[in-house]
Amino acid sequence: MQCGICKKNSNPIFKEKSGNYSLYECPLCGGQFWNPMKNPGAEWYEKDIRYSFRNKNPLKTPEVNHREFLRDLPASKGKLLDIGMGTGNFLAAAVANGYDGYGTDFDNDAIETAKEFFGLQNVFPLNTEEAIKKFGPGYFDVITLFEVLEHLEDPSESLEKIKVLLKKGGYLAISVPYRGSSKLFKAHDIPPRHLTRWSEKSMENFLNSHQFSVTRMKVIPVPFSYLITKYHFWYEGIFSFGAVEKLTSPKKTQKGETIANNFKKNYRKIKMLQSLARLKDYLLFSIPAAILYLRLLLNKKAGLDLYVLAQFKD
Ligand SMILES: [Zn+2]
Repeated sequence: MQCGICKKNSNPIFKEKSGNYSLYECPLCGGQFWNPMKNPGAEWYEKDIRYSFRNKNPLKTPEVNHREFLRDLPASKGKLLDIGMGTGNFLAAAVANGYDGYGTDFDNDAIETAKEFFGLQNVFPLNTEEAIKKFGPGYFDVITLFEVLEHLEDPSESLEKIKVLLKKGGYLAISVPYRGSSKLFKAHDIPPRHLTRWSEKSMENFLNSHQFSVTRMKVIPVPFSYLITKYHFWYEGIFSFGAVEKLTSPKKTQKGETIANNFKKNYRKIKMLQSLARLKDYLLFSIPAAILYLRLLLNKKAGLDLYVLAQFKD
C-alpha cells in the first residue's frame, strides 16, 4: 500500500476506523492518512453547518493560529496569498500589517462575505491551477494555508502546485489540527472532513521533501475560553434558563411582527443576555475547566493546532 502523504510504497500500519474510513500511519514519513483519501467536494461543505454558519456570522478578528503568523510577519510588506481564506478575518489582519494581500477560496459565499464585511478586493474563487494562470509563477513572497492541508486528497501534489506561485526564498505558513491533542478535541478531526493527521516530525519530513526548511514550529495550546465553551456544550440544557430563546421565540413576538424584526428590536437585550450567559458559563465551569487544563498540560495533550513557518529553499 502507498502512503497518502509521501506516496512511497511503505506498508503503512493500520491505526483505527471511523465509519468506512481506516486510519494508517506511514513508517517512513510518519504521516497519518485516512483511506479512502477522498474529499467529499464543495457541495458537502456547503451543507456542512460549520461552514454555512461561518458565512453568516463572520469572525471579526484573527484566530490563535493566525496570531502566530502575525508574530512572525515574514517578508513583511510583500505579496501574500491566503489559500482557503474563508471569510477573510486573517487576510484583513495581514493587510492591516502592511502586506499586499490576496485570497482564494472555493466557497463563493465566503468570498462575497469577505468583500462585503472587510472590503477586501483581491479575493477570488479560484483553485491553485487557475491562480497560477492568473498570477503567473513566483508571484508571491508569502503563501498561507490555515486549516487547509488536512482537507486535501493529495497534499504532496497540492504543495507542488502551490509552490509554483511562491518566489524562491519565499515563505509558507501552515496550520493544521494537532495529532497529539486530546480525544476531547478530535470530534471534528475525522473523515471525510479531514483526511490527514499531522505531528511535528511528519510535518517537517513533508516540508523537507518539497524543498522547504522549517523556520519555526509551534504546538498551539487550547485556549482556556475554548474549554469553557466545551463545558457549555457538554452540560447543555442542564443549567440553561433559555432566556435568550424565550425572548426570540415566536410566542413572544406581537401579532404581525416577524422574528427578524423582533430580533432587531430586542438586539441590546439579547446581547446583554448573551454576555450574562457567558459570565454564567465562567462561574460554573472555570474550576473544572482549570483542572482539566492542568491534566491535559501534564499529559502533553493540550495542543490544539500545529503551526509552522517554512522557507522555500533557493
Ligand atoms: Zn509516508
